[in-house]
Amino acid sequence: MEKIRFFDTTLRDGEQSPGCSMSADEKLSLAKQLERLGVDTIEAGFAASSPGDFESVREISQKIHGSRVVSLCRASKNDIDSAINALSEANNWGIHTFISTSELHMKHKLQMEPKDVKSMAVTAVERAKKATESVEFSPEDATRSDPKFLVEILSETVRAGATILNIPDTVGYTTPEEMFELILRLRNEVYNADKVTFSVHCHNDLGLAVANSLAAIKAGARQIECTINGIGERAGNASLEELVMALKTRQEYYGFESDIDTEQLFPSSKLLSQITGVDVQPNKAVVGANAFAHEAGIHQHGVLKNALTYEIMTPQSVGIKSSNLVMGKHSGRFALGERIKDMGFDLNDIDLNNIFVEFKKLADLKKQVFDEDIEALVTHGVGKQKDKYILEDLIVTSGTAAIPTATIVMKIDGKIFKKASFGDGPVDAALNTIKKITGIQCKLTSYVVKAITGGTDAQGEVSVGVEKDGMRITGRGAHTDIVVASALAFLNALNRIVIRSKGLSPATPVKKSALGGV
Ligand code: MN
Repeated sequence: MEKIRFFDTTLRDGEQSPGCSMSADEKLSLAKQLERLGVDTIEAGFAASSPGDFESVREISQKIHGSRVVSLCRASKNDIDSAINALSEANNWGIHTFISTSELHMKHKLQMEPKDVKSMAVTAVERAKKATESVEFSPEDATRSDPKFLVEILSETVRAGATILNIPDTVGYTTPEEMFELILRLRNEVYNADKVTFSVHCHNDLGLAVANSLAAIKAGARQIECTINGIGERAGNASLEELVMALKTRQEYYGFESDIDTEQLFPSSKLLSQITGVDVQPNKAVVGANAFAHEAGIHQHGVLKNALTYEIMTPQSVGIKSSNLVMGKHSGRFALGERIKDMGFDLNDIDLNNIFVEFKKLADLKKQVFDEDIEALVTHGVGKQKDKYILEDLIVTSGTAAIPTATIVMKIDGKIFKKASFGDGPVDAALNTIKKITGIQCKLTSYVVKAITGGTDAQGEVSVGVEKDGMRITGRGAHTDIVVASALAFLNALNRIVIRSKGLSPATPVKKSALGGV
């Protein structure tokens, strides 16, 4: 059976989506998960875009061994050289270079003549080829380019040494039938087309990214560029998990295999959501909260008798575990540690001790502690001791006849601070007090609270969107008291701002988008 290669661009195109910027550490942990998932190629970033991105591409390429690591580059000497410098010490790497080929882009964005665009592409591919065997070329906005010109420029880049020709639907404009025709035509007309790999990079502006990618495969493409949870510029990229499961569930129709370990799909989706603070919608295919929930009685009845009646794939096959193990206040540190290990987390002793303390507090508040609760403890608790801002105590008064007031005791860099303030509600009062203590001025752009499990004693998980100096950050916190959860979420956002502002990858999404990409 022939293989479809998965090229993941979560760390490059995905990171360009609003609110999805990641620090260098976060990128590395996601890259390691992508390696476990079995993607063939990881586009780790855009080395020339900032010193932070350069460092991050370099680090990822040296620590990842199971996947090829590439950097995106414009078709310029500077971009190519900076990618080569970042990657050349890795053992499996490649260069991905691009230039716009649509009349619209050449005229208004590049302000260049087609013949000059062609020669720039050739020069870039030749330069990259001197340093690495694996050179991918993308004619940006290919689906709105003149196919005749595409044939010319792609043929020239193949002569110059390109091994992968990637056809981007940069603005998500094409349809499955057109994509099929285009790939077929290019495979027929491009010089030595049978010696190179055709790839596609589809955007989801019309909700067709996955369908267009599948059409391209039908026409002979053998590499698909995609992202976890389908994140990316605007409406995002083709979603990796949907493509993988479409090819697997309908293998008798498509007839391809891949190196993806499907049981790592859900953990990858979860990890990305935890890092970015951006959840997938509940009805998201494959990894959404409702993807395997059967509500209608008649469906439930059918599924219980034979899962195949309404289930085309199992939750287990995508890595959703259906464990009912419940822990309580009598569970010990060892049992908690084992449970956390089973859930796939690898904690050091300091984190485990801290989480055990939080677990005991939670077990006192709540009769039963579910997997979801433990997961929240781990997500919100790991690395907490390194945080700049730590909540020590919170007292609020509120109600129909009171002016909402919050008194907060906080630790900042180990020193204790205490202040009180008012608000138009208990959450507002708590957040105002934190702003007063930290002196940080920022805008709250979103506030969402949801119950982690069922029952009135459930923990509330709060996510807040915070904007400061153009940086958009999400913070999360969980507690059985939603005012405390809100304060924790806000402090989490402030701590993330601190990491971002001194981290290697401050990644201002606006600036990156200005650089472009395919
Ligand atoms: Mn793109």
